[in-house]
Order: sequence, then structure tokens, then C-alpha cells
Amino acid sequence: MRATNPLSSPPLASASGIPSVDRVLNLPQFKPLLAQYGRTQVTAAVRKHLDGLRAQAVAGKLAVIDIEDFQLCASVGQQLTDASRLHLRAMFNLSGTVLHTNLGRALLPDEAVQAVVSAMTSPGNLEFDLETGGRGDRDSLVEDILRELTGAEAVTVVNNNAAAVFLMLNALAQKKEVIVSRGELVEIGGAFRVPDIMQRAGAKLVEVGSTNRTHPADYANAINSRSAMLMKVHCSNYAISGFTSSVDVAALAELARPRGVAVTVDLGSGTLLDLTQWGLPNEATVRETIRQGADLVTFSGDKLLGGPQCGIIVGRADLISRIKKNPLKRALRVGKLTLAALEPVLRLYLAPEFLAERLTTLRLLTRPQAQIRAQAERLLPALQKALENRYTVAAEAMFSQIGSGALPVDQLPSHGLVLRADNADGKRHGRALDRLERALRQLPRPVVGRIANDALWLDCRCLEQHEEASFISQLQELSL
Ligand SMILES: *Cc1c(COP(=O)(O)O)cnc(C)c1O
Repeated sequence: MRATNPLSSPPLASASGIPSVDRVLNLPQFKPLLAQYGRTQVTAAVRKHLDGLRAQAVAGKLAVIDIEDFQLCASVGQQLTDASRLHLRAMFNLSGTVLHTNLGRALLPDEAVQAVVSAMTSPGNLEFDLETGGRGDRDSLVEDILRELTGAEAVTVVNNNAAAVFLMLNALAQKKEVIVSRGELVEIGGAFRVPDIMQRAGAKLVEVGSTNRTHPADYANAINSRSAMLMKVHCSNYAISGFTSSVDVAALAELARPRGVAVTVDLGSGTLLDLTQWGLPNEATVRETIRQGADLVTFSGDKLLGGPQCGIIVGRADLISRIKKNPLKRALRVGKLTLAALEPVLRLYLAPEFLAERLTTLRLLTRPQAQIRAQAERLLPALQKALENRYTVAAEAMFSQIGSGALPVDQLPSHGLVLRADNADGKRHGRALDRLERALRQLPRPVVGRIANDALWLDCRCLEQHEEASFISQLQELSL
């Protein structure tokens, strides 16, 4: 390596000094790159890099050092590393929302991860009856345990809860009427709207009651020979309070049964056990809903249930059988990886004593505030150091949310780090926070928090203890 004088500009090279693609590929330094990425990718990367260097030479900006062998190898190597990084990246979720839809909702416990690995790498009895050697039914892999956990007669699993609702409506209410309270015409995340899904499924929505109050007589008056079902939808992401009334499942069942109409409930989150035993807010369980008389219940696998993305329909055997015969079931069914992950998650519910420790979602939701606080205080010095003196960091109490439409108004006492820009006010302060947010997103494992009240909030609830060290060590790479 040549010593360069830092005070003078670097010596320049001309385009004629740029080596050929072949010469570069034959450099001994390129052997490891060729072994790792193969000739096709390395050749393309070299060609692209040399084109860039030629453009620099034309502009009179090509430094001699840039065409030295070691530098060519380093630049092309970096380009290949960047280009081969997967688009789906692991992140740190410090947003304070535990079940964050945009960040992939529930994290799977180790039992599920192992089962998925096995399903990916070995053939399995996905649709193969080990008893008879004949064809099996993939739903049967989770049927027994879901019956046990919910008290339902039968079960089917599809891609997500939106698919579950869609399939249920198409199979049971096509060209018929579905009666829903005006207080329950939910929109979830923009794309799932009860009236729209109903229309696409070919069912006719009959709205009854008013936004804040619906009575049994409203449903009773709407039932006629074209009615297929009375449907209740969980108000997942909003709450109606004040002068309100709605009709519970038991009352709907009483109305519907003698008239031969089904009662269905879209529960959204599939809560399988009473969450109040862990100090969490009360949420109707699937079992209670079935016991009160729902003929079918639909719910997500990756919300409060804590499993993989899927939609689960449980309920009366005759109705589930009609749903499974619908051709859309084949189009909406789940793959083996989903079923592989779902079964071990459901099995964790058989030992409720250990659930808060073993089910990742519940572990995160029930982390004691004192533990989160101690963690925030441990992280503070490293973060303050990485932010130099441009931002101040304080450990403060805050509230997390469950997320994914579960219990929208309830908040969990938490703790975390609050970052404020120094020596700035108003617009400049806002820009400084945006810059910081962006820098955190550009870390090797991107960090996401939330901006509120002129500060960037990093809620530590979802940073598990075993990930603390890697969180701290990558802070050195923070580039403000
Ligand atoms: C979340 C939710 C859905 C959609 O479920 P996905 O699993 O996201 O498809 C439908 N209905 C209700 C009430 C919900 O809360």
C-alpha cells in the first residue's frame, strides 16, 4: 500500500488504468468470492463496478487506490454482500405494540420452531393416514386438540381469519341474508371490512340496530326465509362506550335456533383461556362463545393465541363439513409449515401453569414492569454513548399495547427509553427525531420505536433478555 498525504488530494488514475473484467476475475483475491457466489454473480458485479469506475475516470475523479487489486476485491465483495442480504429481516420491535401486524404478529415458541424445521426437511403425514395408509385430512392434525381446547365439535384451518370469515360466508350464506348489528360493521387494517367481505362472499348484508344500541327485537324482526345466519363481529380495534347495548351470543342463539338460522361469531383474537388469571384484561374465550350457543366461531392463529398466521373455524360438525366441501377451502387451505407450528403451540395450552413462561406472546404480555425497567436502565449507558451528545436518553415508564385489535383500549404498564434531541426546537427537533428513527432502522437488525410528544420512545417490553447483548453491540454501527 502506498502512503498518501492526507493534506493533498489523492493521486488520480485515467480510464486506461482500469483492468479488464477477465483480469479482475483471475486475481487470486477473487477466489473466495467466486467460491461463495459463483462466476455468474461475481462477473456481473465486477462488470458493474468497473463501469462505475469508468464513469468516475471520465469525471476526473478516479483515485489510483480504487483500481488497486485489494480495493477492487473489497468493493465488489461489499456489493455482493449487500445484494445477497434477504429482504425479510429480523428486527427489534420496541414500538410498544406486542402483536404488531406490520412486524409479523406473534413470535413462535421453540417447540413450534423445531416442528417447522422438521416439516421443512422431512416428508410427513400431512394428508396421509398412518393407520390405513390411505389419504388423510390435514385438518385432522389439530382437530382433537382444538376440540379439547374449545369444546367445539369440529374444526377447519385456513390461511388467516379474513379467509375464515370469507369461506364461512360463502359456504353457508351465498345468495342468502346475514344479519349484523350496525355497531359491529368493523374495518380491520383497511382491507378487511365486514360489508365488503360479505359482498365478495356473495352474501347479502342486513344491517340492524344502530351504531350504539342493538336489541334482540332488531334481529328477530329481520329474520325471514332468506336468512342464513346472525353474525356477531368482535369490535377489535374500537370501543363503543356510553349509552350502549348489544345482544349477547346466548340471546342470539335463543332467537336463531327455533328459526333454523345459524349464529356465527368472528372473535378476531382467538383467546383460548381466561387471560385475567395473568392480570390481563378480560376477553371472551372461544370455549365460552361456543358454550353460549355460537354455531361457528372464527379467529386468528397469530393474535392472542400466539401461533402462526392462520384462520381457525370451530363449531357444529354439519356446518364445518359443508365448509370443507366448498371449493374455496382448497384455495384457502394452510400449508404444512403452518400446521407444524400450530399444533405445538396449541399443546402448550394443555399446561396453563407454564403458559406465561413458554408461550412467547403471553411471556411478553406479562413481563413485570420492574423487570422491563431494570432492563431499560441497563441499556441506557450504551445508548447514550452511541447517541453522543446529540440526543439525551432517559429511562421512563410508558404503556405498551397488546395490538392486532385485541382489547384496543387496554394498556400494559411498561418501561423503556425516551430519546430527545438536544439543542433543537420545533421543526428542527422533529427533523432530528426523524433522522434518529431512520438511523435506527438502518442498523443491521433494524430497531423500530415510536415518535410521540417530541420524543422517540423505545419500549423495552419486547426485547427479550437473551437479545440484549446483540442489541447493545450493534449500537456501535449507528450512523447519525
Ligand atoms: C383481526 C381480525 C380479522 C382479520 O384476521 P386476520 O387473521 O388478520 O386475517 C377479522 N375479524 C376480526 C374481528 C379481527 O379482529
